[in-house]
Amino acid sequence: MTIKSFHPPQRVLMGPGPSDVSARVLEAMSRPTLGHLDPVFVDMMDEMKTLLKFAFQTKNELTMPVSAPGSAGMETCFVNLVEPGDKVIVCQNGVFGGRMKENVERCGGIAVMVQDEWGRAVNPQKLEDALKANPDAKIVAFVHAETSTGARSDVKTLVGIAHNYNCLTIVDAVTSLGGIPVKVDEWSIDATYSGTQKCLSCTPGLSPVSFNSNAQEKIKNRQSKVQSWFMDLNLVMGYWGGTTKRAYHHTAPINALYGLHEALVILQEEGLENAWARHQKNHLALRAGLEAMGLKFVVPEAERLPQLNAISIPEGVDEAAVRAILLSDYQLEIGAGLGAMAGKVWRIGLMGYASNPRNVLLCLNALDDALGRLKAPITRGVAVDAANKQLAG
Ligand SMILES: *Cc1c(COP(=O)(O)O)cnc(C)c1O
Repeated sequence: MTIKSFHPPQRVLMGPGPSDVSARVLEAMSRPTLGHLDPVFVDMMDEMKTLLKFAFQTKNELTMPVSAPGSAGMETCFVNLVEPGDKVIVCQNGVFGGRMKENVERCGGIAVMVQDEWGRAVNPQKLEDALKANPDAKIVAFVHAETSTGARSDVKTLVGIAHNYNCLTIVDAVTSLGGIPVKVDEWSIDATYSGTQKCLSCTPGLSPVSFNSNAQEKIKNRQSKVQSWFMDLNLVMGYWGGTTKRAYHHTAPINALYGLHEALVILQEEGLENAWARHQKNHLALRAGLEAMGLKFVVPEAERLPQLNAISIPEGVDEAAVRAILLSDYQLEIGAGLGAMAGKVWRIGLMGYASNPRNVLLCLNALDDALGRLKAPITRGVAVDAANKQLAG
């Protein structure tokens, strides 16, 4: 058999990421590849840093995309900031907090876990108690937008508490950036990382990161070398740094960076506040439809993410069969449950470019049909109307 070119089907991506990528971004990625030290490319890198500072709402000079997905941004924060023996308080309320623990331990640090219920925000009082009990803690880490559950935590409050106990903070903003406010300077976040394939509407494979001067100070004063050569910021900055002449570190993913540049230009054109408002508006429309159908949200209203809607699976429904119908008959992908929530929830993403009324209505109509065919206990034929009413209001 001769293997031919790969032509993927056109899907609608409403899972936990990747989300739909705009044609503008895909087109930008198909432009001619340049050398990674070409002066024209270097100018583009400078613009990229400016655009990322805008997205993160920061003046941090050390703001750039790591050449690998969100997990690598996470790892970049931990390997650079955690030294062997450092005590790190990790607040966990879902899958991604568990990965933070892994990172701390692989850096030779001691992870003190503060466990919260899955589907709830991180509890500030529990963090405060943990800091009182561990006066030698150096870092506090938590996830802003827990993609495994759809819960949103209060970054400003948590960072404020951590700073009262002289801890640096690492905040996971993979799913939050572009979808809800992420204010790095106003909230005094020390180190943060994000991803391109969630609310930034770009392809997967890059991870924007930002470090403030306190985080940089900790990195500069390390007693031991950063254990990862690739992610050692002292070395990476030889390529991405602003002041010195750029030197080869690794070959940047040139065309992927064109895509992120375009995605950030689109975000700038729309405006951050408008992007946040759009995510909220489409979330409310989806919610109106889902609730009219009789489906229930996992997360209490005040702690819900507009871009990640976790819904309990109705009694007796084969959840995988529903997703299979959505994919085969509607070209629509929604997410299954992850970790402890596997088999219990669907995760409907309304992220970035995918957060639009057309997708809300498509998803509600498809769920109405699939659940109806599987004889699930829902109210049929009302979801789309309810969403339309909400959109018009
Ligand atoms: C998706 C995600 C990650 C990991 O990003 P990848 O690009 O898949 O490596 C980390 N944290 C959160 C909260 C995420 O949603």
